[in-house]
Amino acid sequence: MTTLFEKIIARQIPGDILHQDDRVTAFRDIHPRAPVHILIVPNKPIPTANDIADMDEALIGHMFTVARDLAQREGISESGYRLIINCNDHGGQEVYHLHAHLVGGAPLGPMLSCA
Ligand code: 5GP
Repeated sequence: MTTLFEKIIARQIPGDILHQDDRVTAFRDIHPRAPVHILIVPNKPIPTANDIADMDEALIGHMFTVARDLAQREGISESGYRLIINCNDHGGQEVYHLHAHLVGGAPLGPMLSCA
């Protein structure tokens, strides 16, 4: 089934796209949890972190270099930020197309709250 993110990548539905190349697309989260909240997404649909194949290592590394460059562009490199990948139910994953959240622009508080 086509995910929302595939439609954003294909520009079939609107997305505030900040970066796109042949491997990765990055766009602002529709419900930002911090002043900067960007989703960095592989163009090919990998559902979860569990589905990353050995051959995807360079692609996953590229997601990190895109995140680094976007943090620089957004002016949060020095103040700091968090990169988050949620996986499956306990990880709180809502969209089953692998993505890294780049969040920052304010102090983010403790890393986890587990009730
Ligand atoms: P997850 O919980 O799967 O790690 O995160 C999914 C994220 O996708 C959430 O932060 C949610 O706000 C965001 N999101 C869901 N639907 C859309 C959409 O249509 N457009 C954009 N830009 N973000 C979305």
